[in-house]
Amino acid sequence: MNLAIGLLLGIALSVLCTKSIRARTLAKMSQELKTREQLLQQFIEHTPAAVAMVDREMRYLAVSRRWIMDYKLAGQEIVGRSHYDVFPDLEPRWKLVHERCLAGAVAACDDDPWLRGDGSQEWLKWEVRPWTDSAGAIGGIIMFTEVVTERKRTEMALRDATLLQQAVLDAAHYAIVATTNDGKIRIFNQAAERMLGYSGDEVLYSKSPDLFHVPEELERRAAELSVELGRTIAPNTDVFTAKPQLGQVEEGQWTCVRKDGSRFPIWLSVTGLREVDGSMCGYVGIASDISELAAAKEAAEAASQAKTEFLANMSHEIRTPMTSIIGYADLLLDPNLPAPQRIEHVQTIRRNGEHLVAVINDILDISRIESGKIAIECVDTSPATILAEIASQMRAKAVDKRLTFDVEYEGPIPARVRTDPARLRQILMNLVTNAIKFTDQGGVRVIVSLDQSDSKTASLNFRVVDTGIGIGPEKIEAIFAPFKQADSSTTRRFGGTGLGLAISSRLAALLGGRLLVSSQSGAGSEFMLSIPVGPTERIEWMAHPEDMVSDASRTTRSLDKTLNAKVLLAEDGVDNQKLISLHLTRAGVDVTVVANGREAIEATNAGKFDVILMDMQMPEMDGYEATAKLRASGYAGPILALTAHAMSNDRNKCLTAGCNEYLTKPIDAQTLVRVVGKFANASNQQALDTISGTHRSELADDPDMREIIEQYVSRLPEQVQKIHELLAQNDLKNLGRLAHQLKGSGGGYGFPQITALASAANRSINEAEPIDAIRRQIDTLVNYIRKIKGYDTSKEAAHAAERTGH
Ligand code: ADP
Repeated sequence: MNLAIGLLLGIALSVLCTKSIRARTLAKMSQELKTREQLLQQFIEHTPAAVAMVDREMRYLAVSRRWIMDYKLAGQEIVGRSHYDVFPDLEPRWKLVHERCLAGAVAACDDDPWLRGDGSQEWLKWEVRPWTDSAGAIGGIIMFTEVVTERKRTEMALRDATLLQQAVLDAAHYAIVATTNDGKIRIFNQAAERMLGYSGDEVLYSKSPDLFHVPEELERRAAELSVELGRTIAPNTDVFTAKPQLGQVEEGQWTCVRKDGSRFPIWLSVTGLREVDGSMCGYVGIASDISELAAAKEAAEAASQAKTEFLANMSHEIRTPMTSIIGYADLLLDPNLPAPQRIEHVQTIRRNGEHLVAVINDILDISRIESGKIAIECVDTSPATILAEIASQMRAKAVDKRLTFDVEYEGPIPARVRTDPARLRQILMNLVTNAIKFTDQGGVRVIVSLDQSDSKTASLNFRVVDTGIGIGPEKIEAIFAPFKQADSSTTRRFGGTGLGLAISSRLAALLGGRLLVSSQSGAGSEFMLSIPVGPTERIEWMAHPEDMVSDASRTTRSLDKTLNAKVLLAEDGVDNQKLISLHLTRAGVDVTVVANGREAIEATNAGKFDVILMDMQMPEMDGYEATAKLRASGYAGPILALTAHAMSNDRNKCLTAGCNEYLTKPIDAQTLVRVVGKFANASNQQALDTISGTHRSELADDPDMREIIEQYVSRLPEQVQKIHELLAQNDLKNLGRLAHQLKGSGGGYGFPQITALASAANRSINEAEPIDAIRRQIDTLVNYIRKIKGYDTSKEAAHAAERTGH
């Protein structure tokens, strides 16, 4: 028993002992576990990231302080609560993430946009992964999150800035090239690629901008900078960086070399790029191509230089004849001067005066052309007549210099072309004058031909060929530029303004044609003017244009003889009265002088004159008014206008007022006598007819129409007389009716202009325009009618006499 009891006791003791050992071991273990749990808690709590550990039911087991802070959960008891209770507004997608992770997956995202409960936008970086218990079963998940809003914003701002920078670089018209500190290119925009011909790939991080520069310019700038900055600057990229390193801008013009070796001027500014701390981190250069600017500047400088030279030339040109005029006028003051010398001095004064007028006319012409104020007419013009006039004026000058002068026609030419006769004459005159001026031996030929190489329209070519000094190739382009002479010494030797050809070539262009030159120094010159003559099928040919030349010379010669005519000169200037009277009296004309328009009308009523010379600018009543009054009263004799204006609209104005012709002052004696002769007496009636009878019916070539057109034309003087009568009586009603009739009939007889002009006059009357305007319209109509071929002016006067019963 004792043994048994002892055994039992022993067993019991040993059991007890074992139990207490186990109990102690257990207690120790649980103590350790607690410590570990606490450590883990602390680890999680203090970890500097937002971390939360939840069980399978998403109940919090542990959270870090950062979690509490980031999600603004301070003051809440979290542990033990469900994640979904803590975040009731959680987006549904999170539940899916949690479920996947509870099934063993790991999920993560680097920048997940997240809208806070207060509406603010944040970005999260997160990772969710499962945790397992000692048995390896998934006990829940651990969530790591980091609010990366700041970083994200910085990143986005950086990206925006980069995009913006790229857009600016791409869109810039300037070449933008940035380099690293050691001068390697790190930005090379599209404009730089275009400008320099290199692609970005060819230069980025491998080349320096001195590749685009000319060594000599780098050396020159390096030398300048060395002086300016007081230290040696090497002739390489240092040239561009020296100043930017000091916080300044390196700016200036450079010559750039493209990949293909071609060069062009640029304007370049280089500035330094600095880090936030102020240290240099590279350079940026901005360059613009200034080729156009440089060219424009050069052109402007050349133009201004040319104008300066021109002014100097002009002053010289004006001063030289003025000096002679004043000098010789002084000599004339000597009462003892013998008569022959007196005459010589007067001639010198006259010659210089004429030259002065030419200079002034040229200046006016070029400035009118340059300002676009020149009016170009387009009327039926006889080229042969113009050439005959030029020949008759210029032949004497050629003969004076012992030169030959010929006008030659190669084949038939049009009897008439539609152009501006005054301008055509002006161009040809200039070419012929130059040809004679610049030729000392041989002669001048004017060769006229029709160029029909274009099947539809033809052009009339006038070649002025001389055997003179010619023009060297280096000068030939300059001669058409205003203010230029082939050689400035030309001015001294030959005179002239250097404007003639500039005017001529511009006028040629205004006529729709052109002026070309071919010449060699010492081998003569050939100037060719070509003007368009329109469709060839409508051309009326002239079989023997050269006859016109001899005709004209005959006329001039015959005019040297006595003119038996009575002329009324209405002119207020005493000098001009004397001068014109002298020229006319010498030619045998009987001249009556009056001083204004009113006296002219009185004189016309009192006596009969073959021609009235009417100055247009006069006191009391001017020439326009006097002429209009004379025409209105039925006066049909020739009235020739005298005016100081050489503009084409003045000519129109004179013709519209009722004048038959127009002479410009200063009066050329020969022209005066010739024109007066043409209009003067009965023996010149034919000349009057040819001058006035320029308008033909469009149907004149139709043999069936000829007779009825003639009848129509023969009835016109009566109508013209009637028009004047109605106008004088102010009977606008009947005047309108008559205009209406003419409007209806003109076109039918092949005179569409009568229809157009009568219609304009009729409209003026119907719209009750001022009487002056109506009168102008009527005058234009009458003047047109009077110039119709076959129109008999004398019939007008006869009808007038009939009506007034004289
Ligand atoms: P200007 O004769 O008044 O000097 P132009 O414009 O008519 O002015 O002519 C310009 C220049 O062209 C002249 O100064 C002369 O040097 C040259 N030139 C013109 N025509 C001829 C020509 N037929 N032969 C040689 N040189 C000419």
